[in-house]
Amino acid sequence: MIESAGIFEYATAPEGVRPTLRDRYGHFIGGAFVEPAEGEYFRTINPATEEVIAEVAEGSKADVDRAVNAAREALPAWSALPGVERAKYIYRIARRVQELSRELAVAESMDGGKPIRESRDVDVPLAAQHFFYYAGWADKLGYAFAGGGKFVGIGEDGAPLTPALSPGGEREQRHRVISPVGVCGQVIPWNFPLLMASWKLGPALAAGNTCVLKPAETTPLTALMLAEIFEEVELPAGVVNIVTGAGATGAAVVEHPGVNKVAFTGSTEVGKKIAHAIAGTGKKLTLELGGKSPNIVFEDASIDQAVEGIVQGIYFNQGHVCCAGSRVFVQESVAGEVIAKLKRRMGELRVGDPLDKNTDVGAINSAAQLSTIERYIDAGKSDGGAFWQAGGGVPSSGYWCRPCLFEGVQPSAVVAREEIFGPVLAVMTFRTPAEAIQRANNTPYGLAAGVWTDKGSKIFEIAKWLDAGVVWLNTYNKFDAASPFGGFKESGFGREGGVHGLRSYVTFG
Ligand code: NAP
Ligand code: MG
Repeated sequence: MIESAGIFEYATAPEGVRPTLRDRYGHFIGGAFVEPAEGEYFRTINPATEEVIAEVAEGSKADVDRAVNAAREALPAWSALPGVERAKYIYRIARRVQELSRELAVAESMDGGKPIRESRDVDVPLAAQHFFYYAGWADKLGYAFAGGGKFVGIGEDGAPLTPALSPGGEREQRHRVISPVGVCGQVIPWNFPLLMASWKLGPALAAGNTCVLKPAETTPLTALMLAEIFEEVELPAGVVNIVTGAGATGAAVVEHPGVNKVAFTGSTEVGKKIAHAIAGTGKKLTLELGGKSPNIVFEDASIDQAVEGIVQGIYFNQGHVCCAGSRVFVQESVAGEVIAKLKRRMGELRVGDPLDKNTDVGAINSAAQLSTIERYIDAGKSDGGAFWQAGGGVPSSGYWCRPCLFEGVQPSAVVAREEIFGPVLAVMTFRTPAEAIQRANNTPYGLAAGVWTDKGSKIFEIAKWLDAGVVWLNTYNKFDAASPFGGFKESGFGREGGVHGLRSYVTFG
């Protein structure tokens, strides 16, 4: 009776919408899916079940060459389109990402293991937001940089076009020329696959560049779904090319002589190799690398709020976050209370099926990453830290690590120094603000930091001494397309997001 009245009809749950996936994906080159030159494919699996989801083309040097040539050919027409026309394509992409948000979120969680709650509420909306945001800049590039300028495309000869004559017939001498960099080689990691693709493609396309994107080996699917969106919105052929494969494919993209700009997000180790590989070539480079970010809790902070922030900071996306708050510094007077509350909260986190919307912590991205995390946990134990892990089981197949922490960690311990990229927290204490700053900065990295205190004046005083690209105050892991993100020291250079993110995709003449 009640059912027939329809009052118990619910909207479909996000995990109820399954994306339409192909069994096999080629590379997306020159506006179409194509077979790999050497005919090789690899499998991408679901790390929560170990089941194969699809076969994906393995990119050889010949494939990369073909993709770079397609991007080169597309460059003059794309870069010379009026900005308002380029914007229309990018807006269409953004809208289509929104319309397909459920399919994309489910695919992201299946391919990478992250909880659907995160892919649905964070990854996909932010990816759409990045495309919307940069679409808005496409026809305003002359106003984007201090001093302004005149945006011009790139000609068939690879050089910037000459600015048009003004209505009076005189050349606009007073404006400097802003032009696209050219063909961009973009290599991205597995922790935020769709979001990283949007961070890379949004500003590059808005500024009239063409792209060759290489997604991570374990998570290529949402980039390939994005390629289907490009087909649907009739993005001109060759403007974005996607070549899948492992590290060697990434190296072939980066080293290709036809690439003018390299944008890399990934580990500091690979970032250093890339910097070596392209030194002296004249290629423009931005590196978004690893981190070991501090979350600093003062005794006057709202403790419950800070505990939530610590949990958000390190257990979000299983700790596979470049800016994860993986080192927590707690003022000694409140350390007992913070750690007790933190453990209680960690015990409440649900670990399991990424497609269950109640899940807080999903699967570790790959078997290789799980063994890295386990090695770090063993090293932390041998270094003498007190290990604690939330109780409870994990599914019988797939790769899992329950949230854990080390207390009493020495600054010299491996778990305090090296990026683990997993749900492992190092908890340390401090007495004075000066000590907190000194210990927080005692790392080769400088990506992000969190400060928890009730005092506004203290927040700004502390934040200005921290070597970090982003400092979050009484919050953590907050992102917005209008806000620049990037690191200091071994966390890389260059900024993504905001008007700052456009700068590395243009040249000034
Ligand atoms: P990674 O091993 O450095 O891989 C990143 C990407 O580079 C992948 O697509 C990878 O291909 C490719 N690659 C590997 N070797 C290469 C080479 N020699 N030349 C060119 N490309 C190569 O990093 P990951 O393990 O995937 O990601 C985790 C790391 O990324 C962490 O250190 C994290 O901090 C960092 N990260 C930083 C940010 C940021 O914004 N700063 C954001 C996210 C992640 P394969 O997939 O085949 O390995
Ligand atoms: Mg996968």
